Amino acid sequence: MQLQENISLQPYHSFASQEKAAFFSIVSTDIEMETAIAWAQDKAIPFLVIGAGTNIVFTKNFEGLIIKNEIMGIRKTHEDASHVYLTVGAGENWHHLVSFCIHKSWGGIENLSLIPGTVGAAPIQNIGAYGVEVGEAIEHVTAFDTLIDQWITLTKADCLFGYRDSIFKQQKNRYLISELSFKLNKQPNFKTDYGVIRDRLHDMGVKTLSLEAISNAIIHIRSQKLPDPKLIGNAGSFFKNPTVSKEQYEKLQVQYPKLVAYPISDNSYKIAAGWLIENCGFKGVRKGNVGCYEKQALVIVSYGIESGQEVNHFSQEIIDTVLKVYDIELEREVNIY
Ligand SMILES: Cc1cc2nc3c(=O)[nH]c(=O)nc-3n(C[C@H](O)[C@H](O)[C@H](O)COP(=O)(O)OP(=O)(O)OC[C@H]3O[C@@H](n4cnc5c(N)ncnc54)[C@H](O)[C@@H]3O)c2cc1C
Repeated sequence: MQLQENISLQPYHSFASQEKAAFFSIVSTDIEMETAIAWAQDKAIPFLVIGAGTNIVFTKNFEGLIIKNEIMGIRKTHEDASHVYLTVGAGENWHHLVSFCIHKSWGGIENLSLIPGTVGAAPIQNIGAYGVEVGEAIEHVTAFDTLIDQWITLTKADCLFGYRDSIFKQQKNRYLISELSFKLNKQPNFKTDYGVIRDRLHDMGVKTLSLEAISNAIIHIRSQKLPDPKLIGNAGSFFKNPTVSKEQYEKLQVQYPKLVAYPISDNSYKIAAGWLIENCGFKGVRKGNVGCYEKQALVIVSYGIESGQEVNHFSQEIIDTVLKVYDIELEREVNIY
């Protein structure tokens, strides 16, 4: 096992703050991952698996072992008349997998184009965009269960996927994922319900839908509205869209006729967190070395932070303001350590 001591985490996460890890190891096989966990357990120190670090804020030095997952490999295990089944190493880049599938004409994850990060982190918050969530395409997940110290296979049902949620998020750091199996469609089922996708396809002059055309449309939309984490430190949407009762929605709607929301059941509505934050005046606002992105208030950006504490404090100010104005408590989507 390759071990580094007292290293800066700055290159390993997209907010690029300067916290350090007491120990750091890159693993490229499941055996290396298990060895690293056993080493940390033996020393009785905390451990944390990371991928590309695009959904993390470090607020202090990590006094344990950071395990950077680089378990690679994409292989087709089998196929039937309608589907192709793939097994993918958790360290693969997510967008690389999407592009690979589009190239092979296998549908199911094209709407998740250009989401940063690794394949292994995708099920943690059940990444989603433009009407698709990764849980829909996952068959099963292979993980080391640190509670029983054994490798296990979780089926899609075991994963308890929900909106930006899963068993992996509910029981943080219990399951360390090494591999995922996907079921993809040979006959694509295009999802273009979002008006922005249809508008973009129209502007691109697309007459016949294809996986590639949808992916290109989404890449264009995302590149226009989201900051590139390689250029501006950020972790994408910082907060989840909150759910409120129909009664609370109706009251808010009277007070704020432009409120952006949509029904998710007979009695509940999801409210656009970005709208709530923007309407409180945060869009484009900078406080010290952090701020809300000028094109999307839901994204907190860094202007060269030293510590993730700055992001954490700013996000708390947003939570407090939104609570005071609308009586809605925002929940962070990003993982704070
Ligand atoms: C510009 C931008 C746009 C984004 N857009 C979206 C979007 O549209 N939809 C969306 O859902 N998300 C989005 N995100 C968030 C992010 O891309 C996803 O959460 C992604 O899955 C994070 O992958 P990662 O490898 O960087 O995970 P990391 O940030 O490294 O880790 C995230 C969490 O997962 C855990 N984890 C990572 N790997 C493993 C593993 N192998 N086993 C167990 N636990 C693990 C970590 O401990 C941590 O808690 C965006 C982020 C950015 C910066």
